[in-house]
Amino acid sequence: MIPFNKPYLAGNELPYIKQAVSNCHISGNGPFTKKCQKFFENKYKFKKCLLTTSCTDALEMAAILLDIKEGDEVIMPSFTFVSTANAFVLRGAKIIFADSRSDHPGLDEDKIEELITARTKAIVPVHYAGVACDMDKIMKIADKFNLFVVEDAAQAIDSYYKEKPLGSFGHLAAFSFHETKNISSGEGGMLVINDDRFIKRAEIIWEKGTNRVEFFNREVDKYGWVDIGSSYLPSDINAAFLYAQLENIESIQKRRSEIWNLYFKYLTPLANNQKIKLPFIPAYSTNNSHLFYILTESKQKRNELISFLKNNGVNSVFHYQPLHSSPFYRSKYYGKELHYSQYYSDNLLRLPFYYDLGNESVEYIAQMINSFYFS
Ligand SMILES: *Cc1c(COP(=O)(O)O)cnc(C)c1O
Repeated sequence: MIPFNKPYLAGNELPYIKQAVSNCHISGNGPFTKKCQKFFENKYKFKKCLLTTSCTDALEMAAILLDIKEGDEVIMPSFTFVSTANAFVLRGAKIIFADSRSDHPGLDEDKIEELITARTKAIVPVHYAGVACDMDKIMKIADKFNLFVVEDAAQAIDSYYKEKPLGSFGHLAAFSFHETKNISSGEGGMLVINDDRFIKRAEIIWEKGTNRVEFFNREVDKYGWVDIGSSYLPSDINAAFLYAQLENIESIQKRRSEIWNLYFKYLTPLANNQKIKLPFIPAYSTNNSHLFYILTESKQKRNELISFLKNNGVNSVFHYQPLHSSPFYRSKYYGKELHYSQYYSDNLLRLPFYYDLGNESVEYIAQMINSFYFS
């Protein structure tokens, strides 16, 4: 059976974990945590990075930092992971769901402005599959209406919009290092703070609402409870694992890109025959090869294809259920029908994608999809 995902080990994970243990600093904000944060600040020029235990936690920190309160409205796509919304719902926000684009599962930038009211506080674009939302359009709307932007960059590591890295546009951005992402620490995430005003408070929220970071930096002589917060720091053992992956980001991205291009090449004839649609990457975005999806003509065909592939040893999976019609949110949703959110939920199929997936497996999977349509 070809699995959908398989964790990749770059090589130095265990030696670095051993080193973290001998450093005698295995709690948070240790030497490996600092190395990882510096890596991102240097390579992508993010202003300030804080490792978190997950992207979910980074999004929760963002909601606290923006002072999201009961009744505030936050605009985001319906076709996304639950954490994008949950983080703001936990602070009492009302989520205003927007539709996806016709040519891409990401947020339709042209549908944002009509959703803005006097209570709108933030826009949360999600860079689906690591493909950029049109950030010029989004930042222009945010400026015009004085809104905050939090990029859900969970899937967007090492991807760019007009040559500027994703995660550097919003006031805040959140990344994920979950096992299924390009770079992983099992569970892990990171909050990026691009707006200076939020840096000090972010460090406090990160450290359970205390000014412990200032204390460690010898800026104050004792630390105490100064704000709300929680335990958002990962152990330095997790950071050690993450650092081993980050050191190899270039070879990881290179291999993932080869796999993506092979899928695209092998499946192009089927797309030319109108049997399926292939991913579209707008000219302003790079492709970080986070995942490979195809679009079928109907939900029924998609589900038949999943079974067919399974019977032939290939594990393929659909993606999100629209959040606006989820069991939790549908009774709270009074907006319009979101056609494309439903479309991607019904027709999108993700193919196996991981570093160790061999070329021959990619070819086999493509052959199986071909034989599904032509036998
Ligand atoms: C993976 C993912 C998350 C959650 O990341 P965790 O690190 O598992 O909390 C949030 N949003 C999107 C778009 C994701 O793909």
